[in-house]
Amino acid sequence: MNLPRIRTFSHHCRERYGQTVGKIPLDLGIPCPNRSQGGCLYCRPASFTPFSLRTADSLAEQIRRGKQYLLRGRFSRYFAYLQQETPTAMATDRLMPLLAKVLKDADCLGLILSTRPDAIAADLPEALAKLVKCCGKQCLIELGLQSIHPASLELLNRNHSYGDFLDAVRRIQAAGTLQIGVHLILGIPSETKAQMLATIRTVGNLGIQAIKLHHLQVIRETALHTLYDQGRVPVLTLAGYLELLLELLPHIPADITIHRLWSTAHPDLLVAPRWQSLTGPLSQQLHRLMEERNLWQGQLADAGCGLPKERG
Ligand code: SF4
Repeated sequence: MNLPRIRTFSHHCRERYGQTVGKIPLDLGIPCPNRSQGGCLYCRPASFTPFSLRTADSLAEQIRRGKQYLLRGRFSRYFAYLQQETPTAMATDRLMPLLAKVLKDADCLGLILSTRPDAIAADLPEALAKLVKCCGKQCLIELGLQSIHPASLELLNRNHSYGDFLDAVRRIQAAGTLQIGVHLILGIPSETKAQMLATIRTVGNLGIQAIKLHHLQVIRETALHTLYDQGRVPVLTLAGYLELLLELLPHIPADITIHRLWSTAHPDLLVAPRWQSLTGPLSQQLHRLMEERNLWQGQLADAGCGLPKERG
């Protein structure tokens, strides 16, 4: 058996659907509730809004443009990726008909809903599970956590706790059918490698299905940018981030799909770190290093997580 060193989203899709699958970002126009509390230190929506996405467009037009510009004949199927702001901040009875409309498209395999742990309404998991089951599609709820450490959550102005996150995970899991992804940031100021490892290991043991990882980026005109200009935000070098990944990836259970390893903020908005490297060559470099050092995802993860401890 030839196992991948990292279970990437494309590997997962080839295994599950027999083909690679795209993601089409969609915007429901729901503002993030954390904005009224100052927003997260690093957040500027324009930095992760793809050029194809125009907020004022109808959902049908957003999908049409996503197919035209992002799938571009490379992928025939896609996941609708609701990553802008906090889509689940909308009341469940208003949200469900919109999601049902998105899922109607035969090319759409399902939803990826990126949201805050404190924006999972009591009635949401069951309603969502019912909807996707009824359509025969998938739904991954991607919870932004960033770190399990209270001081880091406070520094980032997340305005939710690790307890809020755990509560959301348990309620989503109780509904069945739904999958859970967790978004983590590496290189949060003052976090040690041991703390990042603790976050990875803790989250990896929660029975989740996906992780999105990336390094902290300083985006122009954010609160983090102000701190960075004051010399209070050290950023990771490329070599430092690669070494960090080489240490952390073996602790992630092999059955968890890694949806992202690199940040891709708009170059015009990115202040630091500026590595001047595209994600393709970065991934190749990482894989080469893992091969040289004989490392793989899951190698050092806790037992009982569906992990291959040996490569076939
Ligand atoms: S929760 Fe997400 S969208 Fe809201 S401010 Fe934080 S990073 Fe931005």
